[in-house]
Amino acid sequence: MSMSVTFLGTGGSVPNRFRNLPSVLVRRGPELLLFDCGEGTQKQFLQARAGMNREMRIFISHLHGDHLFGLPGMMHSLSFMGRTRELEIIGPKGIVQFVRGVNRVVKLYAQFPIIVREVSAGRVVIDPEYEVRAVWARHGIPCLAYALQEKPKSGRFDPAKARRLGIPEGPLWKKLQSSPSITFGGKRIRSRLIVGPPRRGLKLTYAVDTRPCKEVERLARDSDLLIHDSCFDESSAAKAKDYGHSTATEAASLAKRSKVNRLVLFHISAMYEDPKPLLRQAKRVFPHTILCEDMDTIHLTP
Ligand SMILES: [Zn+2]
Ligand SMILES: [Zn+2]
Repeated sequence: MSMSVTFLGTGGSVPNRFRNLPSVLVRRGPELLLFDCGEGTQKQFLQARAGMNREMRIFISHLHGDHLFGLPGMMHSLSFMGRTRELEIIGPKGIVQFVRGVNRVVKLYAQFPIIVREVSAGRVVIDPEYEVRAVWARHGIPCLAYALQEKPKSGRFDPAKARRLGIPEGPLWKKLQSSPSITFGGKRIRSRLIVGPPRRGLKLTYAVDTRPCKEVERLARDSDLLIHDSCFDESSAAKAKDYGHSTATEAASLAKRSKVNRLVLFHISAMYEDPKPLLRQAKRVFPHTILCEDMDTIHLTP
């Protein structure tokens, strides 16, 4: 199944002229997963043409305003746009009170059920095709980092080979993909002659508002894409430490240790109107680093 990642907001703490507040939209086939919902996310979501009535989960990392002030607006917009499907919101302790509080004070007219779940470290979503795990990041308040890991996929089916062996298209082709062998024309035919080896699923890790730490490093291991707090450049390393954030260089070192494929610098402080120095510094440590603009999309393929 295809997976794409659209950066609805790549800034942090407060927006600036170029960057909105944190929100990452993952499209996995017809399903949507939204990581954080900073203020203004609803507008970016609309611009991304994500579809308002899709199966959707929102993951909130922590209860700092820049990561969840977009939720009321998002729920309001989805109500106005006629969403009918359930919406699941997942986050650390306090998220239930926040969503309930908004719903109590503001009349949202939501025509769809809103399920809010408070989670801790561990497996927070178990889907037949993927799971999402969370660990505690290292920040001033409880903050979760999430990793979406797809389950291994079956190997590639080679129709030409199947035809060469005279196996007719239909239920036998299906069986070849789901069992180790089939019986055809009185003979046993091993599936691996026609179906390639199992393919690994994609992995995406989202770790914002955190110091570099072992928990995130382990969570991110072998990710296809790591989206990591890169609030500051090297000259503000002390500030990063004081405020529970990371520099771009620290994010790059962690990406290298975690052996990820690509790193996206994220939660860029509003004080950088031109954050190219962050990219330069990170690339010295980990060349496969990307600096995204709001609304950029990355397509992931296994
Ligand atoms: Zn933040
Ligand atoms: Zn924070």
